[in-house]
Amino acid sequence: MGRAIHAGTFVGADKSPFQKQKMWVAAKDNRTRGNPFKGQKDKADHWNMDGQTVDFNDKFVDRRSGSELEHPHDPQAKAVDVIRCRCTFVVINKRDKNGNLIRKNTGMVLPISRPLNVPPPPPPSQIDLNNYKISNNKEDIKKQLQSQFENKTDIKVKSIDFQSNMSIEKANKYGETVFNLINQYKTVPLRNEPPTVISFESEKRYSGYVSNGFYGGNRNTIVKLNFGHQTDADRSDNIRAELDRFNFIKIAGKSKVDSQNLDMATAVHEFAHFIGTENTAGIGRRASFRVANNDEMNDSQRFFSELKSIKLKYSRELNKAMKDKDINTLNNISLGEYASTNLNEFMAEGFTEYKLHSNPSKYAIQIGKLIDQYFKRQYGGKRFNMF
Ligand SMILES: [Zn+2]
Repeated sequence: MGRAIHAGTFVGADKSPFQKQKMWVAAKDNRTRGNPFKGQKDKADHWNMDGQTVDFNDKFVDRRSGSELEHPHDPQAKAVDVIRCRCTFVVINKRDKNGNLIRKNTGMVLPISRPLNVPPPPPPSQIDLNNYKISNNKEDIKKQLQSQFENKTDIKVKSIDFQSNMSIEKANKYGETVFNLINQYKTVPLRNEPPTVISFESEKRYSGYVSNGFYGGNRNTIVKLNFGHQTDADRSDNIRAELDRFNFIKIAGKSKVDSQNLDMATAVHEFAHFIGTENTAGIGRRASFRVANNDEMNDSQRFFSELKSIKLKYSRELNKAMKDKDINTLNNISLGEYASTNLNEFMAEGFTEYKLHSNPSKYAIQIGKLIDQYFKRQYGGKRFNMF
């Protein structure tokens, strides 16, 4: 069965005008070949092949067995490489160093500022009727936000609450931030029943959160969007990594934000989850067969598969720098410990730095540009600079 699915993948990838790469995805459990916790007895090592990315017509290499495989379950491969293997692979677009897609054969670089199957955006209207208006009472701020959510996202709003002691200035700042983010970014379609509670009030354990619910078998319902109200002070320090006095590496908890934007960090972080989460896209390891054929992926699945390959590169560079105690590199690339939690937090921490720091690090830029490319309403728009 594995063979038939993989054969289909080749057809799909070949139809595309763009150069492709393929990435090995190991099952990574205790039956996986080469699992380092089982005493290294396997003759093959698929564990370490996880994330290996090669040009589409090249072969994957198992460094332990020395075998070269076209793909998992390659019918040409030896039994030791394929029997009961549960690995799969995904096809991703090859990009040049500027992040642009590369056409096949010609070697020509085609600048793509938007996904191929999305029609060009309409020209911007002369007057933006949607500008946020600073208000001197919280009820007006709520009304503006409510209509923004209901007209421009698929969220029906149940209620909007500001933390009771919040100043009107700060409430406006939050209102304007979320209002402008909605102006800029599409969110992954959700079935929104029942309506969502929107809150600007940090809680005991979480400065902010997006709470997904199950409703009528639909796991994509957002029950609560909490943009928080507390300031994340440790984001202001430009030092992201250092050696402590015991020569241990200390990594900052979160990604960096300009000090004048600290108030908004939680709101921007949570907004990234609202744009989309891996769950929303329906991708999991077990579903990777289904998404292996690029032509059948929807935009959000394509997005998460590209995001995953950015995260893999990030993790590799980060791990190497940790091993080498290369503080300089860690300082330059770390998005904070929290970014390593999972793909969704990696996205949210990168997005927060991209939006709120004047000199974002290279992976924050890659994450931000990928989000822009897939979700920005007006492609090629000016970089967000609210404050
Ligand atoms: Zn988060």
